[in-house]
Amino acid sequence: MFEKVRPPSEGEKIEYKDGKLLVPRNPVIPYFEGDGIGKDVVPAAIKVLNAAVEKIGKEIIWFKVYAGEDAYKIYGNYLPEDTLNAIRYYRVALKGPLTTPVGGGYRSLNVTIRQVLDLYANVRPVYYIKGVPSPIKHPEKVNFVIFRENTEDVYAGIEWPRGSREALKLIEILRREFGVSIREDSGIGIKPISEFATKRLVRMAIRYAIENGRKSVTLVHKGNIMKYTEGAFRDWGYEVAKQEFGEFCITEDELNRDFAGKQPEGKIVIKDRIADNMFQQIITRSDEYDVIALPNLNGDYLSDAAAALVGGLGIAPGSNIGDGLAVFEPIHGSAPKYAGQNKVNPTAQILTGALMLEYLGWKEASEMIKKAVSMTIEQGIVTYDLHRQIGGKLVGTREFADAVIENLNSL
Ligand code: NAP
Repeated sequence: MFEKVRPPSEGEKIEYKDGKLLVPRNPVIPYFEGDGIGKDVVPAAIKVLNAAVEKIGKEIIWFKVYAGEDAYKIYGNYLPEDTLNAIRYYRVALKGPLTTPVGGGYRSLNVTIRQVLDLYANVRPVYYIKGVPSPIKHPEKVNFVIFRENTEDVYAGIEWPRGSREALKLIEILRREFGVSIREDSGIGIKPISEFATKRLVRMAIRYAIENGRKSVTLVHKGNIMKYTEGAFRDWGYEVAKQEFGEFCITEDELNRDFAGKQPEGKIVIKDRIADNMFQQIITRSDEYDVIALPNLNGDYLSDAAAALVGGLGIAPGSNIGDGLAVFEPIHGSAPKYAGQNKVNPTAQILTGALMLEYLGWKEASEMIKKAVSMTIEQGIVTYDLHRQIGGKLVGTREFADAVIENLNSL
């Protein structure tokens, strides 16, 4: 099954039956460090995760696989089949960041992993960790879970450069068949948004809201301008809510008309907001938003902006989820200028690991990690990124992780 890596002899495989994960006490979890600072933060996070799961009597059997430059050295390929097969087979994986060249070169490996494995939802919880510096007055009011569609939109990679045969042909067809005029020196990208992909994303978001006692799901779109893609995203979102979760959901209009604006117990309010307005709303009225579902491009922007409210890239965890397959990764990239310096903040990668434990159903271990991270920052033990904002005792990546483990062991 694998060409150049050997899976561990111990550990068991996570299974998936009837839409549910079946997680053994000692699952095999593939991981790769990735590029740049991945080599710093992934080993630090794994140490913390091991300490946390030991406390709840479980064990992760890590299976090292390769992607990015490491993989190129071994396989002559940046994203070998071995790695994709390991994720397919073992179902849940932890990854570090991967570098993507801008302009030419190869396509984003991150986007490829999401598309090849059909990890259709990018799920990013955005919450405040006590002690972390924030640019807003009430960061404690921020507690969103963002569901960003991962496979479509202008990110689908359907694009052609200026002057290419394909671009010129499309320009010609659009002019001849549809009377649409596009300048000949244009690059062309296509923005597909389908009912299928929208509905499965919104379904996952609403299901999450129901299972986790959340109060609202907000559909974010730019449907006033892009009516048949972004506007359709909104309409299909409302349709799923009504047709599949009718007993759990009410719309904002119904809330105001039938319940005088007072949310009835056990109901989730489905709202929608235009994307540009939403960028203001998450800052000025943070506590009015809860679960947020949106298409790919706006989702990318909004989730980074939201992360900035509660400490920024060094802190923010993320995940890519499909049906019975999930890959966990921090929001930040490979920050090559800091690679191998034992300098950057491993918190995002550690909290990404905590999110993975929550997905495995090991919530207790996940909560302990969040608490230990918060305790460490409150004790003033910080890496350079937080140090330049709040001062305190400046430590490196490894030392920060060790301090988190010490706090974890004191819980
Ligand atoms: P980046 O790697 O996220 O780094 C941007 C800046 O964010 C860093 O210079 C640093 O800011 C701060 N930062 C990021 N991670 C941090 C951490 N763990 N601790 C403290 N500060 C941190 O973004 P980029 O420079 O735009 O991208 C670099 C490469 O990563 C690109 O090739 C890009 O395509 C790729 N990328 C990969 C992923 C992924 O793997 N999912 C995601 C995004 C980008 P200061 O310099 O101000 O300290």
